[in-house]
Amino acid sequence: MQIYLDNASTTKVCQEAAEAALRAMTEVFGNPSSDHSVGRMANEIIKDAREKTAKALDCESQQLFFTSCGTESDNWAIINGARYNFRAGRHIISSGAEHDAVLRPLDILKNEGFEVTLLKPRSDGGIDPEKVAAALRGDTCLVTLMTVNNETGAITDILQTSKLLKAQGSKALLHTDAVQAFMKIPFSAAKCGADMVSVSGHKIHAPKGIGALYIKSGLNLPPFLAGGKQEGGKRAGTENVPHIAAFGEASRIASENFDENRARMKALSHYIRQKLSELGILTIGEGSSHIISMSMPGYQSQVIMNALDAQGICVSRSSACKKGGRSHVLEAIGLKPNVIDGALRLSISRFTTVEEIDVFIRAIAKAQLLRHR
Ligand code: PLP
Repeated sequence: MQIYLDNASTTKVCQEAAEAALRAMTEVFGNPSSDHSVGRMANEIIKDAREKTAKALDCESQQLFFTSCGTESDNWAIINGARYNFRAGRHIISSGAEHDAVLRPLDILKNEGFEVTLLKPRSDGGIDPEKVAAALRGDTCLVTLMTVNNETGAITDILQTSKLLKAQGSKALLHTDAVQAFMKIPFSAAKCGADMVSVSGHKIHAPKGIGALYIKSGLNLPPFLAGGKQEGGKRAGTENVPHIAAFGEASRIASENFDENRARMKALSHYIRQKLSELGILTIGEGSSHIISMSMPGYQSQVIMNALDAQGICVSRSSACKKGGRSHVLEAIGLKPNVIDGALRLSISRFTTVEEIDVFIRAIAKAQLLRHR
């Protein structure tokens, strides 16, 4: 038996998405730019998928550009957003709790002379909009903050942030990495107040290697990949039709069942937190119900993780791309080293069951007993 509790790292591809990808690979395999029937059919698949993903994100199809992943969407928005808006100034605001897909592009910009202010997150990993407003300067050209933190699930109020930016007459562009928010909490790209929004397919049961960037109408963000005229000339390169088709289907299924899935995951998250609390286990923050960050100070999370893995239970220490490194998010929050070293992240999906959680809780209780023997 395998119990998968690492859905913030990636999710299982749903049947509908896999079938859409297979059809695009084996039947409608044309190049969408080709001017013949197979090409036109492939182009239709992209059009249809864009409508579905845009509907799920609550934006217009023409505002949505497919990319190769969430990381590419973040890089595009941040690097090209800052360079494009340099006339406003060369100051950027972000936070120490951002994903590496945001922090590393910021390093590139720093090397180009941009100045980056990294705000310290709240104890749950989120950022207070008032803190952003206080850090805002006349030369701030970009504010980039994630909507849902990938390690703690903490939610940052992007709409309120955008209102405070406007109230100060700021010319800064606002970008949000909504990779962990999309289809997990109520979220609208058009109404969240951001100029650019990044999402990724593999967090919502589409395959790995497909993402999208929402760009507000009127913002002429320069292309990240220059070349052909794909994606309205904004993102060159022959489109990944199978993955785009799958992303569209995964978006459709997730948005059609959003309320039901959310209610189930909320109840499950509440159940997990209650069971952990009965065991005296600390949880860090609370926001989107798909992520539960916990810590067992005095334990080494890698040891617990390996013990769980040996029983077929998959959890993670922090973000998967850390590859075993220490969590910079928990460090940025300012948690004690023993809390960070004993931290585990559970992340559930609409496929997670109560029975699976019970097995996990029993395994954790056993790990606690072994230590105290
Ligand atoms: N941003 C956040 C918050 C994430 O959790 C992730 C993936 O873990 C990414 C960006 C990167 O997305 P992708 O894996 O599609 O590049």
